[in-house]
Amino acid sequence: MKITSIEIKQYAMPLDPPFKAAWDPAPRKKFATTLVFVHTDEGITGVGSGDLMFGFQGHEHLFIGQDPFDIERHNKVLDNIDFHYGRCWPLDLALWDLMGKATGKPVAELVGGKQKKLYAYASNGEIVSPEVRAERAQRFIEEGYKAMKIRFHHDDVRDDIKVIEEVRKAVGNKIEIMVDANQGWKMPWDVERTWDLKKAYQVSKELEQLNVFWLEEPLPHEQFDEMKRLREMSGIRIAGGEMNRRWHDFREMANRGSLDVYQPDVALSGGITGVKKIAEYVQANGAWFSPHTWSNGIGVLANLHLAAGVSDCPYLEFPYDPPTWTIDRRDYIQKEKLSVDADGFVHVPQKPGLGIELDEEALKKYEINSAYVGEKQ
Ligand SMILES: [Mg+2]
Repeated sequence: MKITSIEIKQYAMPLDPPFKAAWDPAPRKKFATTLVFVHTDEGITGVGSGDLMFGFQGHEHLFIGQDPFDIERHNKVLDNIDFHYGRCWPLDLALWDLMGKATGKPVAELVGGKQKKLYAYASNGEIVSPEVRAERAQRFIEEGYKAMKIRFHHDDVRDDIKVIEEVRKAVGNKIEIMVDANQGWKMPWDVERTWDLKKAYQVSKELEQLNVFWLEEPLPHEQFDEMKRLREMSGIRIAGGEMNRRWHDFREMANRGSLDVYQPDVALSGGITGVKKIAEYVQANGAWFSPHTWSNGIGVLANLHLAAGVSDCPYLEFPYDPPTWTIDRRDYIQKEKLSVDADGFVHVPQKPGLGIELDEEALKKYEINSAYVGEKQ
């Protein structure tokens, strides 16, 4: 089988009302998506998404005429492109989709086949009052969720802690709570100060009293030694690494023992090929792999396949915070949206490849020309 062409298409759905992500000072008025189609001489097409493919233009020829199954070679080329220009990992996802379709297997089976479902944790995205968050927690429990993740980002961290107190008061220990401090990285326009080790430690002590499952990104993503010290001082799990771009960071963090939970995202940090190696390495060192998935529905799906295939962690991030972040918004280009069953599980689609079903009507409605995607979201 040979790759005959690579097609990149771009889409944007207006967000009205805008989505006010806790980690972004600018409200999001649109949701941009890039789709990568890898066509072959056997008529099979692989599809990938989850990042915008900035930096890919002009590199198509490096893949045309190649066998899609030479995945280590293609991943190395993508790593080189990442080093020089930008992240283009959705192409790795499209190649895995293609290999799954060609062999008639779901990608989760090709990468390890450890399990067919994982507990979804409802990953919340916006800052709301303690009362509203407690009501939403109650609703997640009724919908079957066994875990949820709450974002911090009030001006005063004591107001964030009040949210967790209120949720515990309302629902007790009926749901696991993860906390995401979002101190690991910033949007280009955000120059606010981040936490330091002492502040992160003080917060972790409070959260331990509230039986929090993990504290995510309490420190900037490059502070490998500070994270290690925090992890040793703290009684709760420390998670991070969602935007560490290259595999060397994970080797260094794992060797130093920086984290309990490593969260590389297949759409952002190495593709399925690269993140599989990171997952195996950190798990061999006694830590967990539980990918970040907050991109779009195809990004969630691709991370689900790898996590189900190899992960020891029972939970998968499931971006969900209605009414502002709904499954319809997240999966707007997909006809078949990814959902959670009454017991809180998200299931791996048992179709060849990643199991993506595109919504042709939505694609027609939201297609844009590529220049538009480069604008601020
Ligand atoms: Mg996070």
